[in-house]
Amino acid sequence: MRVSYFAQVTYGGKATPYCNGAVTSMYLIEGNTFYDHTANGYNAYAGHETGHGQSIGHIDDTGIIALMGNNPDIEIFFKPQFPDIDFVNQIYP
Ligand SMILES: [Zn+2]
Repeated sequence: MRVSYFAQVTYGGKATPYCNGAVTSMYLIEGNTFYDHTANGYNAYAGHETGHGQSIGHIDDTGIIALMGNNPDIEIFFKPQFPDIDFVNQIYP
């Protein structure tokens, strides 16, 4: 399984769902090695993409700091934040 790719795009990772139209059997989580990141940065991107793999979308509210939403500094916010954790707990109670 490929876990990284190399592309000059504006994002550091991606999550690709594998779905037959009814059931999602897996997500492929990949990091973009085009960009250099610190260890914290890689953790932030990996956490974000793993969130997608747990069926969480983006949090649009810019007033909420989360891996899945507004992240003003990946050196500080590189672990799941309370809103991220809340969404996971809602989906997997
Ligand atoms: Zn995303």
